[in-house]
Amino acid sequence: MATNDSPDRLLRRQFLGHAGALAFSGLSSAKLLAQSRPANAAGATDLVIVNGRIHTMDPGNRVVPQALIQNGRFAAVGNNISVPRNARRIDVKGRTVIPGLIDAHNHIVLVGNRPGWHTPLEHVFTIPDAIAALKARSTEVPPGEFITTIGPVSAMQFMERRLPSLAELDAVNRPVYIQAAQGGARTNSQGKAWLEARGVTVAADGAIAGPALAAALLALRKELLTPDTRKRSAHDALQYYAKLGITTHRDCGAFHSDLPSGGLANENTYTMHDPFLALQREGTLPARLRIDFLHQDSPTANPPLPTLSQRLKNSFPFFGDEWIKTGGIGEFTGGGVEGLRAIAKAGWRAEDHALNLAGVTNLIKDRETVNAEIPLSGLRWIISHIPEFPLDLANRMDAMGMGVLVGWGPLRAIPSNAPNPSASLGPPYRMLMNHRIKKGYHSDGGDITVINPWLNFSTIVTGRNLAGQQILGDQTLTRQEVLWLATAANKWFLREDDLGSIETGNHADLVVLDRDCFTVPEEDFKRTRSLLTVVAGNIVHNDGIL
Ligand SMILES: [Zn+2]
Repeated sequence: MATNDSPDRLLRRQFLGHAGALAFSGLSSAKLLAQSRPANAAGATDLVIVNGRIHTMDPGNRVVPQALIQNGRFAAVGNNISVPRNARRIDVKGRTVIPGLIDAHNHIVLVGNRPGWHTPLEHVFTIPDAIAALKARSTEVPPGEFITTIGPVSAMQFMERRLPSLAELDAVNRPVYIQAAQGGARTNSQGKAWLEARGVTVAADGAIAGPALAAALLALRKELLTPDTRKRSAHDALQYYAKLGITTHRDCGAFHSDLPSGGLANENTYTMHDPFLALQREGTLPARLRIDFLHQDSPTANPPLPTLSQRLKNSFPFFGDEWIKTGGIGEFTGGGVEGLRAIAKAGWRAEDHALNLAGVTNLIKDRETVNAEIPLSGLRWIISHIPEFPLDLANRMDAMGMGVLVGWGPLRAIPSNAPNPSASLGPPYRMLMNHRIKKGYHSDGGDITVINPWLNFSTIVTGRNLAGQQILGDQTLTRQEVLWLATAANKWFLREDDLGSIETGNHADLVVLDRDCFTVPEEDFKRTRSLLTVVAGNIVHNDGIL
């Protein structure tokens, strides 16, 4: 089979992948290390983690000090393991180690296709810190080019409970454009001039709202997106979340637009994976990607199921390699019961999301109709979000062999007219944890909320959203439980048993944390990040630990 690799590129990869090269200080940057990963192959170097508090998330929840990684998989996990002489020893000095986190439903592909130099801000909690992060970013951005933060950012995350103003953003010597998941957009003077030249209305304080919002995003997409900028955004997005410990993303699609659109959640769903596939070919993916296909055929379309029927005929579910793999249909199946029937007949997985009790009740009713004709058990169908979800619905879904994905909380606010502000906005984590139904963690971040897992975990553990409001009542979980949901519990949702726990034979994905997330005070828990992220035995992020 033909290969694009020239001999000198292969040589460079072998050199960079060699243990000795890693010790060379010039190669310690996470980016360069990520670029050195051999394409579609296991890590070249044997690694052994020693002196860790390694939370394996195995069935016994063992915590062990050592793990040996060979050929991209865990070769031994425990105590006093025998270490090959050539293995690279990483002494983590008592730090907490967890399996690589799995976000089992987000919109990372949208984030990886953002126009401009997309700069996530999910780890900062004040406007001065946001400005500092944007200024730091500007050192990599050529003059005149846009620094953007589009989607997973919100006024609620900042102590000031607002987005930065034009005057504040003017401290960044580049055009800046911030569009929040909830609450409009902001730009600075350079950005304002660029947008106004394209007919976009910008208020004196840099605010962009109403129809101007779509016009602004459309202009940015039309003029700034190229295959190369998309590839950069895709890499930067995966790299950013690797710093927060995510090693596997399951992407749940976008609203389809053939042409550039002003909608935050819109992309061309037939080409938006291209930048990720390009990174895969180059061997530079810093995380794994699982791809689901979102379909929205109208139940009354004629001929029926115009896009879904083609997908089911012409694509392969669960096809790919360990880095990128396709999945099923979701997070919309479209096509009503007829669509579900077609998906079940084809033996594919299906997922829809629910936003309220009426919605989830209807979804379950439709599935029961199909299940009576074609048993769904074994297809691992999913319903996600489920803010309102009483016990009897859990029983009915479980009876069909279905599972639920939960999370999606840090930006949820109690409506000002809520009849009972102390009630849980859901989902009912505690009830689900005590139930035998399959459950896993998802952020659903990228366009309507944040992806940062620690913000999500913090809400699930404390019950509080980012503004400090109590939104979960008595439905909170322990830290161990929430970490389990985002690791071992998500095996079922990926249909991959060899991810999500640190056990012999599994893919070697792990995260050395900067703090003990199991014991730090609540306020510090949400600030957790990775010092070292390993995917398939490759070091994809190293924050000075080596
Ligand atoms: Zn979603």
